Amino acid sequence: MDVEVVVAGAGAVGLAIAAAFARAGEDVLVLEAAAAIGTGISSRNSEVIHAGMYYPTGSLRERMCIAGRRQLYAYLDQRGVAYRKYGKLIVATSEREVAKIEAIYATGQRNGVEGLELVSAATARAWEPQLACAAALWSPETGIVDGHGYMLALRGEIEDHGGVIARNAPVERVTPVAGGGFRVTTGGEDGATLTCRRLVNSCGLYAQRVAQSIQNFSAEHVPKLVLAKGSYFACGGRQAFSRLIYPAPVEGGLGVHVTLDLGGRMKFGPDVEWLVSDDPDSIDYTVNSRRADSFYEAIRRYWPGLPDGALTPDYSGCRPKLSGPGEAALDFRIDGPELHGVAGLVNLFGIESPGLTASPAIADEVRARLAD
Ligand SMILES: Cc1cc2nc3c(=O)[nH]c(=O)nc-3n(C[C@H](O)[C@H](O)[C@H](O)COP(=O)(O)OP(=O)(O)OC[C@H]3O[C@@H](n4cnc5c(N)ncnc54)[C@H](O)[C@@H]3O)c2cc1C
Repeated sequence: MDVEVVVAGAGAVGLAIAAAFARAGEDVLVLEAAAAIGTGISSRNSEVIHAGMYYPTGSLRERMCIAGRRQLYAYLDQRGVAYRKYGKLIVATSEREVAKIEAIYATGQRNGVEGLELVSAATARAWEPQLACAAALWSPETGIVDGHGYMLALRGEIEDHGGVIARNAPVERVTPVAGGGFRVTTGGEDGATLTCRRLVNSCGLYAQRVAQSIQNFSAEHVPKLVLAKGSYFACGGRQAFSRLIYPAPVEGGLGVHVTLDLGGRMKFGPDVEWLVSDDPDSIDYTVNSRRADSFYEAIRRYWPGLPDGALTPDYSGCRPKLSGPGEAALDFRIDGPELHGVAGLVNLFGIESPGLTASPAIADEVRARLAD
């Protein structure tokens, strides 16, 4: 074999996986289709380090989020990557929504999320005078990370341990080799073929396409892809909040929330726009300014003082969902040989939020599934 492990995709998840292999002394090669690392979903998100109270107890999203968050903070400290633990208030904007945040609190308690506290409207307003709410759930462990700084730290670690990241190297075809391992063919100007013993498909929006390019790989193990775009609006003017503010979740997302970047600049989003096509090449990332109306409406439920004209279209991202509108939300999929029967292969599907937070734990899980 030319190399022990190939990781396809250099987003936060693929890089975390490659770093985990490299740290363990394994020979690893990352193949990335784009000209740079971290230009996919990992560059188009909220950069929130999630605490883990939304996800059903025992699900992969819950386990990976909580373990990943604990590992991530330690890693950021160790590598000197910028983050801020702003903490977050999830607000009930009506008496009816109080039951919703109480249910999130109960799930968070079951999941072992540290520091959660239900607070009264008066307490929430004492902390955040501009906030309107009936009650709130306080999560002190939620923070914001410099996502690109995190990926650069992972890249440095991979390379320090002798790993290689090849850019402009899209995986186009994978052929299982008799006796074990894979022959991987890349496209691009310098297309090449190489062999590896273990292969991780961490291609985000393109994971289904890469799985389909594996010769004789059963279609029943490639789930459908549903694209859900999320747009953000920037908010000019003075910083109105010193914590992240989230409404109660909506179908397909966590609701149009206030996040702060590391410099305290406010932005709102993402909303949920289900796309008709399942072709990631067809995604138009332009933010439609007409969506601002629904943002003003959603935000003013918890921030009545949002001034007219404060919002400007910012950027958007797209979630690689596995279920559509009206369907039950599905869990992350980390499909190893125990599921599809192909030794040495892991496919990652549906790694939407909280994938950035979960990335260090996903890396450990992938290594465990590929252990001899
Ligand atoms: C709107 C939005 C908001 C989010 N907010 C948060 C948040 O606040 N906190 C959080 O924890 N998570 C959040 N997430 C989720 C998080 O961003 C993702 O789970 C995470 O970035 C996924 O990383 P990835 O490495 O799987 O995918 P990507 O970053 O997309 O990386 C996949 C890589 O594979 C490459 N690739 C594609 N095809 C090929 C091929 N054939 N060969 C080789 N390479 C290929 C791509 O170029 C890309 O670089 C959010 C997601 C969205 C969409």
